[in-house]
Amino acid sequence: MSDRRTKVGNTANGFSYEEPLIFEHSTDGRDGFSLPELDVPPVDPTELLPEGAVREDLRDLPEVSEVDVVRHFTRLSTWNAAVDLGIYPLGSCTMKYNPKLNDKVASLPGFAAAHPLAPDELMQGFLQLCHGLEQQLAEVSGMDRVTLQPAAGAQGELAGIMMIRAYHEHRGEKRSQVLVPDSAHGTNPASAALNGYSVTSIPTGEDGLLHPEAVEAAMTEEVASLMITNPSTLGLFEEHIARICEIVHAKGGLVYGDGANLNALLGITRPGDLGIDVMHFNLHKTFSTPHGGGGPGAGPVGVKNILAPYLPTPVIRKLGGDEGEGYVLDYELPRSIGRLHGNNGNAGMLVRAYTYIRSLGPEGLKRCAEMAVLNANYLLARLREHYHVPFDRLVMHECVLSDKFLHETGVTTLDIAKRLIDYGYHPPTVYFPLVVAGAIMIEPTESESVESLDRFAEALIAIAEEAHEDPELVRTAPHHTRRTRLDETRAARHPVLRWQPERSA
Ligand SMILES: *Cc1c(COP(=O)(O)O)cnc(C)c1O
Repeated sequence: MSDRRTKVGNTANGFSYEEPLIFEHSTDGRDGFSLPELDVPPVDPTELLPEGAVREDLRDLPEVSEVDVVRHFTRLSTWNAAVDLGIYPLGSCTMKYNPKLNDKVASLPGFAAAHPLAPDELMQGFLQLCHGLEQQLAEVSGMDRVTLQPAAGAQGELAGIMMIRAYHEHRGEKRSQVLVPDSAHGTNPASAALNGYSVTSIPTGEDGLLHPEAVEAAMTEEVASLMITNPSTLGLFEEHIARICEIVHAKGGLVYGDGANLNALLGITRPGDLGIDVMHFNLHKTFSTPHGGGGPGAGPVGVKNILAPYLPTPVIRKLGGDEGEGYVLDYELPRSIGRLHGNNGNAGMLVRAYTYIRSLGPEGLKRCAEMAVLNANYLLARLREHYHVPFDRLVMHECVLSDKFLHETGVTTLDIAKRLIDYGYHPPTVYFPLVVAGAIMIEPTESESVESLDRFAEALIAIAEEAHEDPELVRTAPHHTRRTRLDETRAARHPVLRWQPERSA
């Protein structure tokens, strides 16, 4: 075993703790606070509470000191892979570096301490920022109007398809279907189905692209919308996008653009100019706001003017003329699909995205896209001899490999992903897109230097070599982690959500 521990990538693996549960740190009578003596008459709270609201037994709560709590959670926090620790090459997710400037601006007291229910007059700076962000996103995408409300790409899709449905219904048309290419992200069919549409999958061609003929064959007046991701989840630019949009429009349908891969297009081309009618932006992908634990997401939606009457309310309106100056939240939109988020959406994320866009400017955004595409093609060039490349052509911001070259070794994509952890890397997206068997989908983003890309490529190349020389080593990875190979589904099938003292006793 010890020789297996010699190869390490970009994280240290010494000094690692086995961390007990917080309950197991508990010592009877220990606590983490001290309160001053009461200077008012004491009241027994149990007499004020309704029957049944008073807990008889507090035994199972952990009794710990402040330092126990801080150390416990600080240690746990070091168990996470994070974009601040190293490359996080999760295809389709655009795990780019989140500049600290974004956090600095979001923590300015005027933003961080603003009350979400403050009246518009007291929120002018924030509303101006939101209005500016809407305009920036419209400019980048070629859309006419933007809503900042949705909390994630998936909710943006839901909002977009709701607006499409409202549009058709207002015209007195009952359409029943949404077309989705077979390379699409699972949220696309889900958003269509949540709106009551049946989903028709359209096959992509041998080159991985969506072809006009396939859309033409499926397109009828029953179809409300085609949802398309460009670049697709295969990392390929949908070359026939303009023609495809024409085909959908000719039959009265609208085109939904899944903007998760917008990072590849910034400043180079605009979905709105290609024929897209409505699209979402993932601020936590393209615009460098944190994913998951670092903060909530944000999935603004841009629309062409034909869908503007259906935008969620409130919309931010810039006053003019007799109205005076400033910004207001406008609730008067009779055909609106309604509210999608409390208050102003995930406000802190909007400030971060705005900061990112303003700090880069148009030239900087374009350079992001160029560097993201260059990095993906560089990795592909380094890996092409070692891994099977299902669609070997110029890619956009991500590349898709597969485990096909390794079939005779018995090593699969899952094993490669697990072995990468031993090298100190968060694995890429695996087994997606579904159209590639054993897919390994790598998106390096523009954040990585050539040295970082080389180290990552060398780890993957070393694993391909190990797969031939010592397949068992790869198939039983990871070896350097606190736990080795876990049952991938057990935690989901048999969740243990409550601490049970007898289990640890
Ligand atoms: C990430 C992603 C989504 C969903 O976005 P969330 O912000 O995670 O809800 C949709 N489509 C594609 C292609 C994606 O990569």
